[in-house]
Amino acid sequence: METLQLRIEEHINKLSQFTATPGKGTTRLTYSKEDRQARDYIIDKMKEYGLAVHEDGLGNIFGKLEGTLKGAPSVLIGSHFDSVPNGGSYDGPAGVVAGLEVAALFAEKQLTPKYPLEIIALIEEEGARFGGGLMGSRGITGLLSEDDFKNLKDKDGISTEEAMVKIGLDPSFPKKRDPKTIKAFLEMHIEQGPILEEKNIPIGVVEAIVGLTQFEITVEGQAGHAGTTPMDRRADALVTAAKMIAQFPGLAIEEGEGTVITTGKLNVFPNGANVIPKNTVFTVDIRSGKEEHIQNVIRKLNELIESYSTNGIKITAEQQLFMQPKAMNQEIVALMKQISSELETPYCSINSGAGHDAMVFSDVTDVGMLFIPSKDGLSHCPEEWSDSKHIANAVQIFFETAKKLTEAL
Ligand SMILES: [Zn+2]
Repeated sequence: METLQLRIEEHINKLSQFTATPGKGTTRLTYSKEDRQARDYIIDKMKEYGLAVHEDGLGNIFGKLEGTLKGAPSVLIGSHFDSVPNGGSYDGPAGVVAGLEVAALFAEKQLTPKYPLEIIALIEEEGARFGGGLMGSRGITGLLSEDDFKNLKDKDGISTEEAMVKIGLDPSFPKKRDPKTIKAFLEMHIEQGPILEEKNIPIGVVEAIVGLTQFEITVEGQAGHAGTTPMDRRADALVTAAKMIAQFPGLAIEEGEGTVITTGKLNVFPNGANVIPKNTVFTVDIRSGKEEHIQNVIRKLNELIESYSTNGIKITAEQQLFMQPKAMNQEIVALMKQISSELETPYCSINSGAGHDAMVFSDVTDVGMLFIPSKDGLSHCPEEWSDSKHIANAVQIFFETAKKLTEAL
């Protein structure tokens, strides 16, 4: 095994030891003892690789290789280092490790960038302690205000600031960062899905992070006795809901390009074995890399609602969430594809079905993202695994990309 791959494995193994649930996956909540241990490890490595380290008022870690151009914006590479409870060793940390190893290659080759290179390790992406998620990137970009941050508490009533101080962090440091100080952000992440593994392709170049919308649909019918109401006299809210839900997969498949639709929640009222359901309330979650697909599915959903609103059935839909798809920067996407070809690393285009810090950064800077295969498509569980060989591929692509973006010589 080559040394780059060995170093990657060592980092992953070391970081996975900083867990509150040894033997039961990685549990590394933000500002916990395990956060402190992982943080110390990351900071040590940053220093070893010649980076100047600082932490902001959220506890995000930055390791900077200065550029020769005075006051020039930085190319950031990294991901998050927190985890869900009983999660895996790769979701987040793999991207931090990739960043570290890009810095190691810069040091090894003694490159001097014109624009600074910054390796970053972000807090609380999963939201497992304080909720909401994407906290590190939302803080840096100003999407999360100082006050909102201050007011967050964990389930034991411990505030963000109290928890920070407990592990030796200083919440009075600046949080928001001037977007003018950022030239680009690159993130490598495990795919968390089965596509790359099934296709046997080592690299996915992310084109977009999917947009999503969620509806709550209420079907109102008429309750009645299950024994005495003839079948042709019923307005059954559950039968109607079931007919609608059964048609949803077809809407997504018809739309194509990875459009997905899910009903994950269904409540029946009054929910009695001998009562015809009066009301059903269910959710519809629609996701796609392109907004037009989301809009098309919404239109077809409304048509379904109209066609089933008959014979004593009333259906209402309430849109509860809408997030635009976030396209990655087309120049960086093209550059990473070109570099992959030059390195003879097979790649394909892919959309991200999950949110990532890259999504947040895309509002303020040019963003590029790479996926590597997840074994059996699994994540957020102890079985989560990715091949260090694939992480090494991503490091090589990021190294060449970062050389171009930082104009390193
Ligand atoms: Zn993640």
